Amino acid sequence: MNYEKFFADKIADLKAEGRYRTFADLERQAGAYPLAKNHQDHGVEQVTVWCANDYLGMAQNPVVLEAMKAAIDQHGAGSGGTRNISGTNHYHVLLEEELASLHHKPAALTFTSGYVANMTTLSTIGQMIKNIVMVSDEQNHNSMIAGMRHARCDKKIFRHNDLKDLEAKLNEIEPGRPKMVAFESVYSMDGDIAPIADILDIAEKHGAMTFIDEVHAVGLYGEHGAGVAERDGLMDRIDIIQGTLAKGFGIVGGYIAGSAAMVDFIRSYGDGFIFSTSIPPAIAAGALASVRYVRAHNELRETHQERAATLKRRFRDAGIPVMPSVSHIVPVMVGDAVLCKQASDELLAHDNIYVQPINYPTVPRGTERLRFTPTPLHTDADMDKLVDAMVRLWARLGLKAAA
Ligand SMILES: *Cc1c(COP(=O)(O)O)cnc(C)c1O
Repeated sequence: MNYEKFFADKIADLKAEGRYRTFADLERQAGAYPLAKNHQDHGVEQVTVWCANDYLGMAQNPVVLEAMKAAIDQHGAGSGGTRNISGTNHYHVLLEEELASLHHKPAALTFTSGYVANMTTLSTIGQMIKNIVMVSDEQNHNSMIAGMRHARCDKKIFRHNDLKDLEAKLNEIEPGRPKMVAFESVYSMDGDIAPIADILDIAEKHGAMTFIDEVHAVGLYGEHGAGVAERDGLMDRIDIIQGTLAKGFGIVGGYIAGSAAMVDFIRSYGDGFIFSTSIPPAIAAGALASVRYVRAHNELRETHQERAATLKRRFRDAGIPVMPSVSHIVPVMVGDAVLCKQASDELLAHDNIYVQPINYPTVPRGTERLRFTPTPLHTDADMDKLVDAMVRLWARLGLKAAA
C-alpha cells in the first residue's frame, strides 16, 4: 500500500468539502485579552479574538499568574510522575479539596484534561459495573462517547434534551439492570441548556446513576460558579459532576466530583488517571487560585451574561441570524461549509476579527456556523466593530439574514 498517498487523499477529501482545518497561529498577550497577535504568511497582525473558551479571561488574571510564577519558583516545572509514583504534589491535594467543596461533594479527582476525565470515568464505570446500560444524550461530547465506546457496555442514545425519549429508552431496559444517564448542562455549539431537574426526576424514578458534563458551565453559572446544577439547586441529586479547569477557569486539566467511594474507585481503577503523569504543580496552583477567585467574584459572571445578552441583541437588531441560545454562547448560522470558512477568512482579512468557522463533524452538515464567545473583557467598542463588520460581510457574501 502507498501509505503517503492514502494520507494525502484523505486530506484532499477534506479540502474538497471545505472543511479542512487550519489553525490561527496566535500569540496571546497577557493583560491585553481579547487582543492577540496573529502570525500569517505576510506578517503579524493584531486581532480581536471572538471565539476563545477562556470565557472569563482567567488565563491572564494577575492573581492566577502570580500563583503560577510562585509555584514554579518554589516547586519547579514538572510534577515528577504519575499520581501514584511521586507525582502527587500538595497543590493537587488542595485543588481537589477546593473542587469538592465548590460542588458540595465529599471528594474530587483531577485529570490531565476534561477529555481524560470523561473518557476515564465513563469507560471505567461502563467496564466494571456488570451489565450496566449507558443512556446518553445524542449531542454528548466526543470524550463522553469515547468513554462509553471504550467500555463496550450496552448503550442507548436519547434524542437531544428530549425527556419523553429519555423515559422511553429507560423503559426499554430490563428491570433490575444498572444504568447511567449521561448528559451535559450547557451544549456549547447551540448554547442550549439541559432540563436538569426533569432529567434527574426520570433517572431517579428508574434507579439510574447520573453523570453531568458541566465543562461549559463551571466558573460561569451559579452564585459561586459551580455550574448550572448550582444555579438550579440540584448538585446534591447528581452522582458525578464533571468539569474542566481549561475554559471558565482559564488553565488546563479536568476533574470529577462526587461521593468518596466513587472517587476512590476511579482513583484506584481508572486507567487514564493511573497511567499518566499528573499536571505540573504550577498548573495545579494556578487552577486553585483561579477556582478560588472565580468562586468569590460573582460580578464576573454577571458581566459575562450581560455581554452575551448584549451581543445577541445587537446581532438580532442588525438582522444577523443569531441562533436562539439561552447561554453565554452566541452562534450565528451560515449553513454552508465553504461560505462559513470564507466568512471567517474575510473577517480576519478585512477587519482583524478572529472567529473560527465551526463545521462538520463538530456540528451537523448544513448547520455550519460562526460561534462567538463574548467575555467580560469585550467592550462596547469591540462590539461596534464586530457588528459593523458582520453587516458588511453578510451583504458582500449574500448570506441569509435573520428570519
Ligand atoms: C472541551 C470539552 C471537553 C474536554 O475538556 P478539556 O479540558 O478541553 O479536555 C469535555 N466536554 C465538553 C462538552 C467540552 O466542550
